Amino acid sequence: MSVLLWLVLVTAPRAPAAQAVLITTPRGETSVPVTTERRTAAVAAPRLGPPLGLTVALDGSRVTVGLSGVVFVFQLGAPFVRAGGVVYGLVGEPYVARDTVFLPLHWLADCVPRAVGGRYRWEPAPGGDTGRLVELPIASAVTATSPSTPSTAPVLPPSPASAPNPITGLRQRHGVVIDPGHGGVDPGNPGRYFPSGLVEKDITLAIGRLLRAELTRRAIVATLTRSTDTLIDLTDRGALCKAACDLFVSIHVNAMPDGRRADRVSGVETYFLSDAKTEDQQRVAQMENEAISFETGTSSAATGPLGFILRDLQVNEYLRESAQLAQLVQDSAARIHPGGDRGVQQAGFTVLTTARRPAILVETGFATNRTDGAFLASSLGQHKIASAIADGIVAYLLELERKRAVAAPARGR
Ligand SMILES: [Zn+2]
Repeated sequence: MSVLLWLVLVTAPRAPAAQAVLITTPRGETSVPVTTERRTAAVAAPRLGPPLGLTVALDGSRVTVGLSGVVFVFQLGAPFVRAGGVVYGLVGEPYVARDTVFLPLHWLADCVPRAVGGRYRWEPAPGGDTGRLVELPIASAVTATSPSTPSTAPVLPPSPASAPNPITGLRQRHGVVIDPGHGGVDPGNPGRYFPSGLVEKDITLAIGRLLRAELTRRAIVATLTRSTDTLIDLTDRGALCKAACDLFVSIHVNAMPDGRRADRVSGVETYFLSDAKTEDQQRVAQMENEAISFETGTSSAATGPLGFILRDLQVNEYLRESAQLAQLVQDSAARIHPGGDRGVQQAGFTVLTTARRPAILVETGFATNRTDGAFLASSLGQHKIASAIADGIVAYLLELERKRAVAAPARGR
């Protein structure tokens, strides 16, 4: 199958025509004309052949692009690309139209220079909308090594322990506890728009596992409160986030009660613990806390019927941190969610009261909305939400490290 590769500029085109991306290599140049596609400027690369040695293969929703010996794997509709075990975020998403693969120009301008180890440099055009990709002469980087050295990857000095992780920029080890909501005899909400048989506990487990994989890929130690279809007491879940844990994130799927508006409500929202402020927040907290009725009641921390009271001053200490974590995760998740941004909310979730660290609960969408339901039940949707939550967590941890560095600048020096 012959697949054309197009590059899509996500920024609005300022000039309607006569733009181009020039790809310059020692073996020749490729000029890539610009056209308009999906109300954005698209860059067509119909003959990306000999100068770049570029290959494109489409397999289902997977697009594999080879460039200079590096394999880039895209998922259609997903704003990221993997290369050599590293995940790069993209501005825009790859898609297919008329047998043509469209890739965000951001990939060529930003990811390729980073992934191909300094062999390419992106030079933006003065206008800013396009630019050119320049392949640097190999000699400059390699001549210093002995001629007898086999020419493998460029040799980099071993990174010191405090060097930032190349994927995330994080310098310290971090641990996250992921809590897939419900499980076992507690199915969660029945999922009106999930394929038959699927319920909330299946979706939360699938997203939880993917989130663990996304965090692991970002070199963060991630633990699940449950990795199978079992029920764990709400009060025991948060308690799993102890010494080596930086934060706790519980994954759920929302549902509207039957009624006229039930189908119309959609979107993602992120909660942190506090007294529920509105009727809607109270409804969600009550729904999620109902899992208590499935539990054995042996847990000592469950003193009241519902956890609307802040039981512990230690929880209070983390309120501001939890609010910031909630905001960063919400911002990231809202960017990829088809159902919209319902913002950060506060409510009294029992599952959050026992966490000894910042803790949030993500309602990843509405099972009572057709679009949200299809998104959450799809493999692509689950990947997107898991990746977005992971990005939000990394953003929070970077902030945390920055604050720690300000608080203790002399430590360890
Ligand atoms: Zn739930």
